[in-house]
Amino acid sequence: MKTIHVHLPANSYNIHIGKDLIAKAGEMIAEDKAPCKTLLITDTNIEKIYGEIVAESLRQNDFDVKLLSLPPGEDQKNIENAWLLYDHCFDHKLDRKSLIVALGGGVVGDLSGFIAATFMRGIPYIQIPTSLLAQVDSSIGGKVAVNHPKGKNMIGCFYQPKAVFIDTNTLSSLPSKEMVAGLAEVVKYGVIKDAELFAFLEKSIFDILQLKDEALLKIIAASCQIKASVVEQDEKENDLRAILNYGHTIGHAIETVTHYKRYRHGEAVAVGMLYATKIAMELGLADRSVFDRQLSLIKNLGVSIQTGLKSEALIKALYTDKKTISGKLRFVLPIKIGEVIISDKVNEEILYRVLDKPL
Ligand code: ADP
Ligand code: ZN
Repeated sequence: MKTIHVHLPANSYNIHIGKDLIAKAGEMIAEDKAPCKTLLITDTNIEKIYGEIVAESLRQNDFDVKLLSLPPGEDQKNIENAWLLYDHCFDHKLDRKSLIVALGGGVVGDLSGFIAATFMRGIPYIQIPTSLLAQVDSSIGGKVAVNHPKGKNMIGCFYQPKAVFIDTNTLSSLPSKEMVAGLAEVVKYGVIKDAELFAFLEKSIFDILQLKDEALLKIIAASCQIKASVVEQDEKENDLRAILNYGHTIGHAIETVTHYKRYRHGEAVAVGMLYATKIAMELGLADRSVFDRQLSLIKNLGVSIQTGLKSEALIKALYTDKKTISGKLRFVLPIKIGEVIISDKVNEEILYRVLDKPL
């Protein structure tokens, strides 16, 4: 097992990564928290496989557990379900010393975190992320939210978990498309901060896709370490944290234009990273090899990279992104594998030139 400490001024916590952690979750949680009323929130896919294992492990350690599961899917991350979960918090008589445990992918994590942040102005919560995307990204950093019809994650806040438990074994049941989507974010970490991680991905991508334990542990720990250190330096997303948005500017535009239906988030980010690198090349910031190395890795993941989308539609979507500050586009651009810069020098002319050509 590996443990990564996220050091924050008021809310430090540990991320534990290893095999078979979910069966020990109760025991590990009990080391820091006295038994209490606990709402265990999951989705129906995950409940079937892991729900009882976690619930039982908590009960064995005297936690009074109520297990709740929502239907799976991004559209469940809404205020109506939040309201329903508050009802359960009242029914189960949760108070400020109680616990919420989020067992699942990003949807369960974000929604449960939002409940934990807001019920009685905040009660402790723990993340047990089961999708690769949640393990390397959404479970760390304290962004919690629900969607609004006018935009994803628009209603939310920053609220840190008390601990994160990542069981690499849960990836064995994860659909392969979800695995690939998560891996795109791992590639992102390599490009923004860790050339060694990137080289490891190039060398070991097939071991990773075959879920070899050691390779999984290595890439998840490296990713969590990067996310943790960025969050430590910039808890509330001012400047540094923006580098985590590499590939996301055009990625979000692709998701918007395709109405979040055609691409998983990670796949859109993978394509977004390739376009961002093309932009960096246009500006003379990166050479061809930075593009080629990402292209071959992303192709090995099986992401279909030619979107066939119109540049005009993508550019329009770029300007309506919530991260566009007063109409000015900010791009995270690679200068080499392992290092990016933030640039506001990307104008429409460059965007048309890059987005009009196939990758
Ligand atoms: P994400 O984690 O990508 O943000 P979701 O929370 O929607 O998004 O999870 C993606 C899908 O994968 C959901 O249908 C969820 O039920 C399913 N899922 C998550 N983790 C696992 C797992 N370990 N085994 C099987 N299915 C899983
Ligand atoms: Zn992302």
